[in-house]
Amino acid sequence: MAEQLLRWLNGQVDLRIAYSFTLDEIVACLQDIVNRPGVYGIPSQCAEIRMSIHQNVTRLRSVIRQHYKAKRGVDIADFYNSCPDGSGYLIPPPSQSIAREANPHWPSAVASLRLIKWKHEGIAYWALPDLLGLFMSSLGSAPTGATKRNFYLPLTAVFGQWCMKLLGEGKWPAIFQCTWTEAGEYCPGASRGGFATRGVGGSWLAVLDRARYGVIRSPLLTLANWSQTWTPTIRASRGRGTPFGRCGETYPFRRVLVTCRTGEEAGRVHGLALSSRYVNFAHLYDDRLSGFIWRGLVDPCANCQFLIRLHNGDVTHFNKADGREGAPP
Ligand SMILES: [Zn+2]
Repeated sequence: MAEQLLRWLNGQVDLRIAYSFTLDEIVACLQDIVNRPGVYGIPSQCAEIRMSIHQNVTRLRSVIRQHYKAKRGVDIADFYNSCPDGSGYLIPPPSQSIAREANPHWPSAVASLRLIKWKHEGIAYWALPDLLGLFMSSLGSAPTGATKRNFYLPLTAVFGQWCMKLLGEGKWPAIFQCTWTEAGEYCPGASRGGFATRGVGGSWLAVLDRARYGVIRSPLLTLANWSQTWTPTIRASRGRGTPFGRCGETYPFRRVLVTCRTGEEAGRVHGLALSSRYVNFAHLYDDRLSGFIWRGLVDPCANCQFLIRLHNGDVTHFNKADGREGAPP
């Protein structure tokens, strides 16, 4: 028996269909959500902020020409008219889905580019995947009865598909993550991605890593004697691990876990992390435990396990096997 997935956004979005959207359909869907929030059951407050997040996603998405082929009667000209010109993606070179500008201090700076940070609720954003995650999290709560099987896993898989198509040829994130509360608040996020390094002077990756660390850093982390570059995975692997901030958990944890007011609340936070390889193999949403999506789930790394405990979460709620009972074999 196929999994009965919940419909998203007031029943308007069938996640199986959204999973296989073309780039044009994704662009049209995002635009329609912004234009007609009431239809999608989205509260009317914060409409301006939502529009602003959407504009940032649009500005940074790939504008490679072949993506504009008309499909299913959709008018190409409409997209050119309703969307900004992609200048945020194209300029300054190399093309990438990261908000950036030439660094006037180069060559005495770390890199020839620097980030343009857009702030929302005190958190800085500059990369398309994280802006798309923020946009999705701003659309209201999950449908009633949402679980990993019937909503959060398919939603994360849709988020990953949309990210990849919007990024086009940019460097794809390795992990997509979603963190949620039992009350239905959720936030998707991605590991570092959307960037291009060829032609950038200095170390652009160091700039990106440093900025992502800024999203998750806290006095608690410093008190525990960890830093951006001294982390549980780095200690365990004698230097080959990852710095704090690079994981897909970075923004979801910052928005959903770190903001919990009590330990009890944090103990009711759940999450999943999905390796992005499924995008190349599962062209339709595959709900089977033996399929590429369920098999692509990964446990939180040692850095993320530490962050979950630091913020009073329950690591077992983030394990890949959590919530799999009853899914089709
Ligand atoms: Zn991690």
